Amino acid sequence: MKQNADLHQEEHTHCHEGHTHSHENHGAHAHIHSHRNLIGFDEHGIPTVILEADHHEGEEDENAFIKDYMTAVAEYKKTFPSKQDVMDQTPDPAVREMMLRTEQLGIDTAFDRFDKQKPQCSFGLAGVCCKICNMGPCKVTAKSPKGVCGADADLIVARNLLRSAAAGAAQHGMHAREVILALKWAAEGKLDIPIIGAQKVMTTAKAFGIETEGKTLNQVASEFADALLEDMSRTVPAEHNTIKACAPPERQKVWEDLGIIPISAYHEVFEAYHKSGCAQMGTGKVLWNNSFVVV
Ligand code: SF4
Repeated sequence: MKQNADLHQEEHTHCHEGHTHSHENHGAHAHIHSHRNLIGFDEHGIPTVILEADHHEGEEDENAFIKDYMTAVAEYKKTFPSKQDVMDQTPDPAVREMMLRTEQLGIDTAFDRFDKQKPQCSFGLAGVCCKICNMGPCKVTAKSPKGVCGADADLIVARNLLRSAAAGAAQHGMHAREVILALKWAAEGKLDIPIIGAQKVMTTAKAFGIETEGKTLNQVASEFADALLEDMSRTVPAEHNTIKACAPPERQKVWEDLGIIPISAYHEVFEAYHKSGCAQMGTGKVLWNNSFVVV
């Protein structure tokens, strides 16, 4: 990845637009030239600064920024294990045995497919590939820092992140919908399954402000399911039942001040896709907020 990672082995001096640097030879270690701290993972998988910036504020330009994250992606890609690495390093002998057996049987696994996908696309990994509209796909490079529509790296990354979050909300949300409907229809006798954990249903319903006195378990369960369905699908801003009942008050205040209390799951997914479409939001910053709402 020499073309993107500014790697130097020798003592030298070189110029960027508007400034000059000299570097000493750091022995056997390749020196990586970076304008920002590069974040990676340590041996325990904990995010950490793997390379400190050697350039500081006021020295940045757009090309240097692009080089920085492509350097980070190149370093990150080096940490991807192969199937053989997994077999050599797994602490569980049963995993190794299973992988060998699937190989003997000619069964294709995620490990084989991951190896075949190498080398992974650097633009995709950096999040700077966009195919939201039919003028693309567009990718950000030093030569082409903006997509056809004018979106820069920040906006493309923010849109991709927001759409990923919305996809996750939709996937988990549909599971939740199935569970809520099962509770509602069991309570209304449309589904022949028992409601177990009566105490839990009653206690949680109370926390949601649902009157339980003098009501049967089925009546309360049905009302409780309605409150949850409302959180899933309301279209007009109103109090969010689940957040009001379950989130600590001080956290609710922070979310309110930031303006990130969701209207409903359906609404936030709609809005995420609407706002991240071509020619909608002008900056990535606005979309970060939406990502927090969806998450
Ligand atoms: S939305 Fe913009 S950056 Fe994305 S594919 Fe279309 S023109 Fe390219």
